[in-house]
Formats: sequence, structure tokens, C-alpha cells
Amino acid sequence: MAARKRPAAAVLGAGHATTTQGSPTRCKRSRINNIRSSADYEEKTCLGEGGFGCVLRARHRATGKIVAIKYLNWEDGSTEAPDPAELLREAGFLEACDGNPYVVGFEGLVRDPDNGAYGLVMEYVAAPTLHEFLWNRCRGGGPPLPESTVRAIMWKLFTGAKKMHDRHVVHRDIKPANILLGQDGELVKICDFGLAISLSELPPYTQAGTAFYLAPEMLLGKKDYDALVDTWSLGCVMAEMLTGKTLFLGDDDDDDDDDDDTNNEIIQLWSIFRLLGTPDDRTWPEFTSLPHTAKALRLLPPGHKENKLRELFPREKLSDEGFQLLQGLLTCNPDKRLTAAAALKHRWFAAPRPATAAAKGGALPLTVKKAPRIKFIPPAMPQKNLLKIPVAVAVWNAAQQV
Ligand code: ATP
Repeated sequence: MAARKRPAAAVLGAGHATTTQGSPTRCKRSRINNIRSSADYEEKTCLGEGGFGCVLRARHRATGKIVAIKYLNWEDGSTEAPDPAELLREAGFLEACDGNPYVVGFEGLVRDPDNGAYGLVMEYVAAPTLHEFLWNRCRGGGPPLPESTVRAIMWKLFTGAKKMHDRHVVHRDIKPANILLGQDGELVKICDFGLAISLSELPPYTQAGTAFYLAPEMLLGKKDYDALVDTWSLGCVMAEMLTGKTLFLGDDDDDDDDDDDTNNEIIQLWSIFRLLGTPDDRTWPEFTSLPHTAKALRLLPPGHKENKLRELFPREKLSDEGFQLLQGLLTCNPDKRLTAAAALKHRWFAAPRPATAAAKGGALPLTVKKAPRIKFIPPAMPQKNLLKIPVAVAVWNAAQQV
């Protein structure tokens, strides 16, 4: 499984077969139709490059406003600008989330008068990603984040996710590299809606996202998943903040070889099930009828029933309330998993009121030097970890032979 997948074709409505009314790509007074010239902007410097595009910091010549502009990557050797459909789709989701304080703001679209390429103009967020922040902090032997800080950040992420889900938008790629974090944890913004879908468009939905953060139902081929895939990813993010390490490390092979996808799904599922226990009909009635379950059960080593999550998050690291919430997110059966709205009502957030690190006097060292950009590589080296787990290697080998 490639680490990340975009909806197959560059069309509005990709990622689902049928569309219904209410797509976020169609809004009254939409700024999407008002396309300006990229020549209106100057002083462009690269903020970050992802698998699908590059984001530039730019200044509006007339107003002096600083923005971030995302351009899609050009195909190798191509002289034709990339198809703008994916970018328009992403713009539609950002616009649908307008006013959400924890989602990067949408400013409009631009087009390069010389080459015709479209750019997505966003609020500029002067902050590293959570991935860069954790990497900087933990690679130098620094401790992971304390529970109080994690709680303050999670409260903002759940609030952002709830507002997004209220508008039927599912992000599908929530991960530390898509969360901008600054101002001692005060500033939290979810970015990169390149894989988002609208639930007002009918299933089937395809598998999309970053392998390590994919919910088990998506890995098992469920076609009518919903916003709970995002709360699973938020559970993975919470765990990563508490330990400084990616929780479910499957296979880190980032090539796009679709033939390997199912095998890699099995490895990813294995990393989930050996920590949380393999589901069954009792814990998850739909489990056995999902498309990939039979193959997974054939290949996975039997006997992993216990949930060992608490061993990884002992009381010294995470309070009972915090653990209860984490467990509520990292529940394989989506019907039993916490929604963002339910998470916000959890007693972990009851008292003391979620305070930022700054307010509590425990400032986050966000001023550390920015690490060189590392694409899709989590803080720990997955391949090495994989090799340390003989059973995972056995599963991998078995999967290869199928
Ligand atoms: P990926 O393949 O990693 O998901 P992508 O090609 O879809 O990436 P984005 O994730 O949207 O691109 O952006 C790439 C990087 O640009 C981000 O990781 C972040 O460092 C930076 N970035 C994105 N949006 C903004 C913004 N609004 N303000 C500041 N920096 C941003």
C-alpha cells in the first residue's frame, strides 16, 4: 500500500461513485469562481513540499498580505499544467470549512498567466507541522509531550474535527504532517484537504490516506465508512504526541505498486491487532463480513486477543481519563468508537479546563531549529522496527507468497 493515495481520477467527486446535492464544492458566493492572477503575488519562497504539490509563501503586491499558495506537481517532462480538478476539489473542502478556527483558512484561487497552472491560496500559518515539531523534539532525546499539553492540543483538534464533520467533510488524511502547530500550542490548524470527501456524496468510498493512520475498517475494505475514520487517526496522533513515536508502524514502502497493496494492508492491520487484539464477531459484528477480513485472518498469526494499549501508556504517562479517551478512539469497531463530538464531552476535558502549555507555564520549545524536510518518514524508522519483529516478518513473507 502506498503511504498515501489521492482519489483515482482528477475529477470532482472522485473517491465515490455517486454524487448527491450539497457537495461542498458548490457554494453560494463561492470564491472558487473568482480566480485571480498569480502575478498579483511576489516574493515566493517554498514552505513545504508534499507528495502532490508544493506550498509557497507569497505576498500580495497590492495589500502586502502574506499567504500560502499550493500548486500541484507537474508530471515529469510534461509541458502541460496539471489538471486543476484536484485542486478545485481541495479548494471546495477548505471553503466548506470556512470559519473553522482549527482549519487553515481559504483565500481563493490563482492562475499563472504564463503556464496556466492553478494555485490554491490559503491563510499563511507561520508554524511547523506537528510531525516536524515531534521529530525535532524527540530526535535530540527530548521527552515526548506531557499529558496537559497533549490534552490542550487534542481539544483544539477535536473541535476542528467536529466542526468539519458537522459540515459532512471527512478529511481522511489526519496525521502529524497535516497539522500545523505554533505559538506554544495556541495555534493548531489542520491542513491538506487533498484527500477529503463529502459524506453528502454517496458511497462506495475508496481507500485513501496515509497507511499508519488508516482506520481498520478502511484497511479491511469497508466502502461506506464515515467520519469515524478521522477520529481513529486522531487517536493515532494523540498516541504519537504522548510517546514521540508512530503508534502503528506497518510497512514504510512508499512505492505506488498496487499489487502490494493488500499485503501491506495486512501488515498494517497486524500492527494494529497485535496491540489492540484481533476483533471478532462479538467485539465487532461486521468484522468477518468485510472484504479483506478472510484474507487477513488467514495470514495473521492467531491468538492475539488481548488489548495491550495500557502497557504502552501506563498511569505515569497517561491518567485514567486520558487513557479512557485514547481507548475510545482506538477502538477497531467504528460503531463503538468515539466521535469528535463525544470526545469533546469526555471527562478528560472536564477539569481542569484544557489549558495551553503557555498558560500553564510549561512552554513548548517550538522555536527549535526547523529540521530538514523529510517526506512521510515518521520519527522512528519503520523498516528497522519491522525487522525487529520476527512475527511481522513472517506475516510479510507469508503475504508475499499469496
Ligand atoms: P502531503 O503529500 O505531505 O500530504 P501535499 O503535497 O498534499 O502534502 P500539503 O500537505 O498541503 O501538501 O502541504 C505541504 C507542506 O506545506 C505542509 O506539510 C506544510 O509544511 C506546508 N504548508 C501547507 N499549508 C500551509 C499553510 N497554509 N501555511 C504554512 N505552511 C503550509
